[in-house]
Amino acid sequence: MTAYAPYAVTAHNRGPRVHPESGPRWRDEFQRDRDRIIHCSAFRRLEYKTQVFVNHEGDMFRTRLTHSLEVAQIGRSIARALGLNEDLTEAIALAHDLGHTPFGHAGQTALNACMQDFGGFEHNLQSLRVVELLESRYPDFPGLNLLFDTREGILKHCSVINARRLGDLGRRFLEGGQASLEAQIANVADEIAYNHHDMDDGLRAGLLDLERLRGHPLHAEVEREVLQRWPRLDAKRLRHTVIRGMLNHFVSDVIGSTLAAITGFGIASLEDVRRERRPLLRFTPEVHAAHLELKRILRHELYEHPKVMEMAARSQTIVRDLFEIYMNDGAELPEGPVFTSPEAQARAVSDYIAGMTDRFAMAEHARYRGHSAPE
Ligand code: MG
Repeated sequence: MTAYAPYAVTAHNRGPRVHPESGPRWRDEFQRDRDRIIHCSAFRRLEYKTQVFVNHEGDMFRTRLTHSLEVAQIGRSIARALGLNEDLTEAIALAHDLGHTPFGHAGQTALNACMQDFGGFEHNLQSLRVVELLESRYPDFPGLNLLFDTREGILKHCSVINARRLGDLGRRFLEGGQASLEAQIANVADEIAYNHHDMDDGLRAGLLDLERLRGHPLHAEVEREVLQRWPRLDAKRLRHTVIRGMLNHFVSDVIGSTLAAITGFGIASLEDVRRERRPLLRFTPEVHAAHLELKRILRHELYEHPKVMEMAARSQTIVRDLFEIYMNDGAELPEGPVFTSPEAQARAVSDYIAGMTDRFAMAEHARYRGHSAPE
């Protein structure tokens, strides 16, 4: 048995499943959640969903699937170092993007705009909807029937209106307090993962200017150290070594700084974690500033790059058109037109579009528009 820290989520203090089940025989409950997530169809579809670059733009770029695996890996390292529940952290990390639309954030923005009169669309809530309702694989319940702690971690943020209808899961957004440390780790691991893999993808795609990154103080410091040790390193190895060095720096910092906060705030139990209003997962102030600066550079140089924006505009048109097509003709939906209200139809359309891979959305769009999809 793993020795957990007293503030970890464990078999003794975990929350319930929505539908009671007998325990697994060889695995623990957290492994069961992780395994259910890996077996679900929304997880497999992450392979063909955009992270930053649309899926067909190149085989080397991250997809939502490889992004989620990197989040899980970083999350596990932090969880292990802090004596926390690695399986729970991994389950949350693997599930955190299940509700993402095709075409990354451009897709979500477009779908949210389409859904304005019908309660909106938010990928976080959609991830929860996938595991609570949309996956249909088990005879006794809808969704995956995951533990409270896994679902709590998936719900990273939430509006007050939505929090009110989510019961126990929404309480912390109304009353203050926080999710488990495992959930907070998955959240930080997500940010560390995309900052670093987007640097790598952006440089490889030739969209991100290395000189601009060299203006980042930590990038400059790590590159200097690497070149001191390996003065003749080729550009590719240099890029990987610098990015790896930066990633290690952020991960080490968050571990040390979080341990100091846990001790400093007198956190001695999971209840203490949930009651505490100050974030426990944290960087030191200098590294936090470096983290924000990296995000700023990536936003300006990569996410707002004309090429990325152009693809985003095209994908928003696809999502908007598909929404209109299915709203006008419910018979085009897999379940057919069986809706009791425009809201119910809009939600079914939104679920259908959100579940699409990039290429399926493009093929569907091309089919309706009467031209062929890009290769
Ligand atoms: Mg993510």
